Amino acid sequence: MAVQTAVQNADSVPDAGSVDLGPAAALSCRECGERFDLGPIFACASCFGPLEVAYDLPSGTPEELKKRIAEGPDNIWRYAPLLPVPADVATKPNINPGFTKLVKADNLARELGITGSLHIKDDSGNPTHSFKDRVVAIAVEAARAFGFTTLSCSSTGNLAGAVGAAAARAGFRSCVFIPHDLEQGKVVMAAVYGGELVGIEGNYDDVNRFCSELIGDPLGEGWGFVNVNLRPYYGEGSKTLAYEICEQLGWRLPDQIVIPIASGSQLTKIDKGLQELIKLGLVEDKPYKIFGAQAEGCSPVSTAFKAGLDVVRPQKPDTIAKSLAIGNPADGPYVLDIARRTGGAVEDVDDEQIVDAIKLLARTEGIFAETAGGVTVGVTKKLIEAGLLDPALTTVVLNTGDGLKTLDAVAPTTGPTATIRPSLDAFRDAGLAGS
Ligand SMILES: *Cc1c(COP(=O)(O)O)cnc(C)c1O
Repeated sequence: MAVQTAVQNADSVPDAGSVDLGPAAALSCRECGERFDLGPIFACASCFGPLEVAYDLPSGTPEELKKRIAEGPDNIWRYAPLLPVPADVATKPNINPGFTKLVKADNLARELGITGSLHIKDDSGNPTHSFKDRVVAIAVEAARAFGFTTLSCSSTGNLAGAVGAAAARAGFRSCVFIPHDLEQGKVVMAAVYGGELVGIEGNYDDVNRFCSELIGDPLGEGWGFVNVNLRPYYGEGSKTLAYEICEQLGWRLPDQIVIPIASGSQLTKIDKGLQELIKLGLVEDKPYKIFGAQAEGCSPVSTAFKAGLDVVRPQKPDTIAKSLAIGNPADGPYVLDIARRTGGAVEDVDDEQIVDAIKLLARTEGIFAETAGGVTVGVTKKLIEAGLLDPALTTVVLNTGDGLKTLDAVAPTTGPTATIRPSLDAFRDAGLAGS
């Protein structure tokens, strides 16, 4: 069994004492709390629960820490004291993602009836145009610390591109796995960086199962799978979204955040990041609500949320939001817990609503989102209409990817207003003159 093997592989890990991952002190089990030395392991040896990074968080006053952060680089490494990376991380070859724009979206707010403030955290501005660069950048540093030379992953598309780029820059070999039927934009982006790209005949859950087998087999020995055996470190990259949002709001917590869900890792780690900021005194403690967003064609978490269940029943994905098409989300139960604990919700929208929302965001704010951004904007609209999201408060909606990667989603319903001969008469006939 894959989990068992991964735990046994811990024996071949470098000395815990020789691993420098900055403030990361250990791995701890999210279920039973047992602690383990830092290493490329992801499951608890006692209860098989998922492992996460535990820290010695920095001492000093909140003001000192804020100053230190402000003096850092304009990327995720400004938060190095809160991440599992060595202190000199900014000097290493890395794609250096983050510090993407937080766009105040007044036009969209007006359209949605939001009277408070609405912000789009636009992660299409990362090096490979999705939020995945954040998680991969951290996984690369963990891979370096553990002595891996090949990087791998199972991907719904964006992760493959992020790993390819990060490996190229950081000097690793890469071999990544994707479902064979992804959008052309994702396939090209995954391949262009020169690593190996393997299409698997099946959906993401088949790809993931294959990678779990590979990790326990000599064929995959010595490989760092960013979202499998390096998953505890990988996940921490998503905390930087929480840090940036709060810093960009002037070190304040938003009232409501709408986050897309694939495996659910990002959503759970944004919550972890917000909790850390409160604990460190970097933001004033107040309630916030976390909302999860899925596509109807792959909505195992929202289905469980609406049914009041604690377990997430796997689904077979069928949606244009392929980056979110994980039918068996590893962090599903934790997402349910966070949505309920914070007073949020999990909602879904269908493919037509996703396309409408992509166009709505583009036409109101000049931001062209990939399908995952259509999911969050569409769900935001739905939550307001249902009275679940308070339009009078400060709301942040995540756009996690670039529309250029999923042109296929909007191409059938988007195109020239008219095609005419190059003559003024023809233009007059088209009826487009005037202001
Ligand atoms: C991977 C991905 C997500 C969310 O991933 P999680 O597995 O839930 O962490 C969201 N948006 C895009 C565009 C992605 O590629």
